[in-house]
Amino acid sequence: MNEIEQLMLYNRAWAVEQIAGDPEYFNRQVNDQTPAFLWIGCSDSRVAPDQLTQAAPGGLFIHRNIANLVRPDDGNLMAVMDFAIGSLKIDRIVVCGHYGCGGIKSALEGPGPGPLGDWLQHAVKVYDDHRAEIDSMPDSQARSNRLVECNVRDQLLHVADSAPVRAAWAEGRDLVLHGWVYDLRDGLLNSLLEIRRDTDLADVARPDRVLV
Ligand SMILES: [Zn+2]
Repeated sequence: MNEIEQLMLYNRAWAVEQIAGDPEYFNRQVNDQTPAFLWIGCSDSRVAPDQLTQAAPGGLFIHRNIANLVRPDDGNLMAVMDFAIGSLKIDRIVVCGHYGCGGIKSALEGPGPGPLGDWLQHAVKVYDDHRAEIDSMPDSQARSNRLVECNVRDQLLHVADSAPVRAAWAEGRDLVLHGWVYDLRDGLLNSLLEIRRDTDLADVARPDRVLV
């Protein structure tokens, strides 16, 4: 059996398992989705939001890209946020970076030409903005992990400054933004910072170091 056939087989086994445990499972799924969280994370295959939070299907609305970047000119992500906040009425948004992020390492080393390098320029900007602190770290792993943390903070600020979030706050909604990092070494999520409606965005400090 090849890998694709195996994937399809596992899917069939999963569907049978769901029905066996709850005959109405898929009947409920077709009706609607009411996820409580929008998750903006890295595409890294080791950081699977559903699995590491034990969220059932329908629990998380998810957007992933390389290095969990939030670019105001990213129409894909802006549409996701617009739908999540405006239609699904989600009031909790998580931006989650992770230990050992390849995109962040590449941003540190200077990304090459091509679409990936173009994309990562947004992470290079984060490095430039925090260069003094990051360059003072003792080794490449520490520099990379600190950039992961600073990147989560800066991307969360971009979320806070986006049109959908600003509109929700203007309506008085208690939308809360959470900046987290996932540590591949122990499987644990760590909270770095939160931004709320009354947070002064000009006064959001760099987070404490977590990935040491
Ligand atoms: Zn990553």
